[in-house]
Amino acid sequence: MAKETRAFQAEVKQILDLMVHSLYSHREIFLRELISNASDALDKLRFEELSHPEWKGSDEEKHIRLVPDKEKRTLTIIDNGIGMTHDEVLQNIGTIAHSGTKEFLKKAKEAKDKPELIGQFGVGFYSSFMVADRVTVHTSKAGTEEGTLWESTGDGSFTVDSVKRPEGHGTTIILHLKKFEDDDSSVEDFADEWVLRRIVKKYSDFIAWPIKMKVTREEDEVDAEGKPIEGKTKKVEEDEVLNSRKAIWLRSPSEVTDDEYKEFYKHVSHDWSDPFERIHYRAEGSQEFTALMFIPSTVPFDYNYRDTKWGLSLYVNRVFIMDHCEDLVPAYLRFLRGVIDSSDLSLNVSREILQKDRQVQAIKKAVVGKVLKHLQSMMDNERERYETFWKNFGATLKEGITNDFSNKEKLEELSLFHSTHSDKLTSLAEYVGRMKKEQKEIYFITGDSLKTLQNSPYLERLKAKDYEVLYCIDPVDEWVMQSISKFKDKHLRSITKEGLDLDSEEEKKKTEEEVKAKEQEFKSLLNTIQGAVAEKVKEVKISTRLVDSPCCLVSGAYDPSARMARMMESMGQSMPQQKRIMEINPNHPVFGRMKDLPENTQKEWAEILYNQALLTEGSPIEDPMRFSRQIANLMTHM
Ligand code: ADP
Repeated sequence: MAKETRAFQAEVKQILDLMVHSLYSHREIFLRELISNASDALDKLRFEELSHPEWKGSDEEKHIRLVPDKEKRTLTIIDNGIGMTHDEVLQNIGTIAHSGTKEFLKKAKEAKDKPELIGQFGVGFYSSFMVADRVTVHTSKAGTEEGTLWESTGDGSFTVDSVKRPEGHGTTIILHLKKFEDDDSSVEDFADEWVLRRIVKKYSDFIAWPIKMKVTREEDEVDAEGKPIEGKTKKVEEDEVLNSRKAIWLRSPSEVTDDEYKEFYKHVSHDWSDPFERIHYRAEGSQEFTALMFIPSTVPFDYNYRDTKWGLSLYVNRVFIMDHCEDLVPAYLRFLRGVIDSSDLSLNVSREILQKDRQVQAIKKAVVGKVLKHLQSMMDNERERYETFWKNFGATLKEGITNDFSNKEKLEELSLFHSTHSDKLTSLAEYVGRMKKEQKEIYFITGDSLKTLQNSPYLERLKAKDYEVLYCIDPVDEWVMQSISKFKDKHLRSITKEGLDLDSEEEKKKTEEEVKAKEQEFKSLLNTIQGAVAEKVKEVKISTRLVDSPCCLVSGAYDPSARMARMMESMGQSMPQQKRIMEINPNHPVFGRMKDLPENTQKEWAEILYNQALLTEGSPIEDPMRFSRQIANLMTHM
């Protein structure tokens, strides 16, 4: 293939600009990113060698090499890992495959704390342009003969060419170092051995592969008897290994420093911020494994995209097997980052085998138990911290209530809710502790935001009775609340559905009589309203749940809520339209007035009231034009 020049994808250009201009105080992390990539490439090669014995090289030979050159002003990073094919080069560098890149860029342009945001996005290789004004990549994929030479000055285009790589498979990255114009004395020389030693120690000490650098040492010359000759020295070249290579997860937690944990987290998560929490332990017994897991401090920007990978990295006796292993933790713990190292699994496990492997299932069960226990202890002892965690990942954790039967109760205990009680989050247990003596059930309402729920007409009677109501605003709550159904013998009850039973026997008798009287009083009006909205609701009746609002719509006890129906529809799953009940508040003055109006006007008002009820619960109305015309009309004739 001949040499070609290609343009960077527009987003890549923007990312490069953003990085060069906002990460200047973090320049040195380019090396962490490149070493991290090289280490991944070596891990991948070792894994592939299991199924391609003909590629097999020795693990001792696998390494990363740094070659600084002060005169040429270059720093070269070499690995003899898996390498890339021509197509892979085009796919991996020069384009950004992340979903949500556009949104990220928009956010990043407005963000104050850019480094943190960029860190979440993970710009990896591109960070080389923070220190280099020209980057050359020479790579060759293991198992192939071809090599690919890629080069760019980072200003909009790059070239690719087919050029054999004499050393065989692996990747060489040459950074032509920038001359920084800042007067900033903190700008370091990245071709300096001491600077490199320091950076590697700081960020990449735990990398399992040796990071080598050729150094020259002065040595006394010796005579034939091995005695130093006075005043005579010679230069000796030797390889220095810059990292200690200790697998951090196999060390005892008391020996690992916070900084070491942080850098390891950044390596496994591709996040640039510090982790929020870590869980590091060794499991003994039926399954022996070591786990080092982290919870990120913010929600990764691509967290909710469907194609975003999750899962822990799996090692068998220190040997990397795969990353993003989804079989080690359930999806509701997909915020976890980190590694599991097992001594029981075979080195030849594949993704397909993992799914069914009994040992893997046992590890998963143990990991879930440990993580939930850890969270429970955080909730009990560090409530504020737990709430921070909950705000980020609570909606994910709750999913488990709907699909992990064996941990359902623990997850219910761990769940927090907004409620009418105060601005603070509450657990179900705390709610139950505050329940009134005569209160029969745990009440909740689901909706799109706290604001709409706080003013919801459905709350009126409960507020009057001083019963607490949980606000459920996460989409997943529609499923979660249905799944809980009971907590500590108390049923959970949606206050927007039929069958809300708030009263004592005595009160009930009284209200029944009142309702009967009102039904009598409003008989003909109820009929007219029913006629006007017959296509939309199955019944119009006198309400006992309203105090100030004129009316509301109530779903059948077993029907999906209006919001659930809306969400299913937006996911492309049509739900059979369930007609609801329209409840009217006979004590609202509008009905007193309406009673004496001509039937035509009554019908028109019935329609307006129905649409108002939709709007207050957050549902769209069918014909907004007609609705606003009706309101304008009403205002004209007041
Ligand atoms: P990330 O590492 O977050 O995926 P990068 O931009 O750093 O993002 O790298 C993109 C991809 O390029 C990597 O996922 C990997 O497939 C490939 N790559 C980068 N460096 C190397 C390397 N030294 N050897 C082999 N492949 C590499």
